Amino acid sequence: MTGLSVVVPCFNEEACLPELHRRLSAAAQSAAGQDYELVFINDGSRDRSWDVMRQIAAADDHVVAINLSRNHGHQLALTAGLDLCRGEKILIIDADLQDPPELLPAMLETMHDQDADVVYGVRRSRAGETAFKRATAHGFYRLLSRATEIEIPVDTGDFRLMSRRALEALLAMPEQSRFIRGMVAWIGFRQVPLPYDRDQRFAGHTKYPLGKMVRFAFDALTGFSSAPLKLASHAGLALSLGSLLMIGYIAYAWISGQNIQGWTSLMLVVVVLGAVQMFVLALMGEYIGRLYNEVKGRPLYIVQEIAGESRRLGSWAT
Ligand code: UDP
Ligand code: MG
Repeated sequence: MTGLSVVVPCFNEEACLPELHRRLSAAAQSAAGQDYELVFINDGSRDRSWDVMRQIAAADDHVVAINLSRNHGHQLALTAGLDLCRGEKILIIDADLQDPPELLPAMLETMHDQDADVVYGVRRSRAGETAFKRATAHGFYRLLSRATEIEIPVDTGDFRLMSRRALEALLAMPEQSRFIRGMVAWIGFRQVPLPYDRDQRFAGHTKYPLGKMVRFAFDALTGFSSAPLKLASHAGLALSLGSLLMIGYIAYAWISGQNIQGWTSLMLVVVVLGAVQMFVLALMGEYIGRLYNEVKGRPLYIVQEIAGESRRLGSWAT
């Protein structure tokens, strides 16, 4: 098999799908001729995304549409598509056309010329996103790269082209809390950046409200670093030093016969200690919660239905 697979997770993207299909098909055809498949994953959308996908799959032999049983989240929906795709080269792209499909030929060329296993898009600019999103994303990627032992490239999303062997390495990782851009960095091989300008969303609103963004950030941090757990020892050290100073001061005050006012200082110590302890407990809780999740070993996602699979690239039957 030599084909190209394009994998697209979709959550409430009915307005983007027709244009996405048009632009992706054009890009894939110019790059791979007829030897390609488009894999759309419906991640429990509450709009008409699945109907639209099914229609597209019925009309176009190149399209496979996967309907998940409910909303499993971006990274798991993407995993479902990656599990099912058949191509020798795999492009991951968002459904909202923020990442231009027209970059595909350049990515294939870079992969070929530099003998790379992964060509990942690096966002030179991000159009149509709020200053808050840009600032938090900027801060997050830099914090992450300081906290982790492996090098996760900054300002990089899931928009990337991968070889089959890189994908197989990725799929061999069974974890539930998936931060795919980091997992791809972890596998190694030759990975090459390709800078591009990120467009506005074609239609609709971001599917990453603040809560999901925070969860995603925690998945990344806890999945790739145990540095937060070490904060407890840093805090312990700092507080021990503080208490030494305090002991010195109290001894001095006692010897020189001063009368120390108790309430303010006591409350200060109680409140600060309480806050630090709760914070450290919460951090430990994050890791324990994730351990619990992993230990259960549930499947990552449940597929309800697949449309268009019988005609696909190297079909199931063979
Ligand atoms: N997405 C998904 N499931 C979710 C949330 C998002 O499959 O629960 C998809 C979404 O349809 C899109 C991609 O993940 O294709 C990235 O989401 P979005 O563009 O909203 O994120 P942003 O670009 O704003 O960070
Ligand atoms: Mg987007």
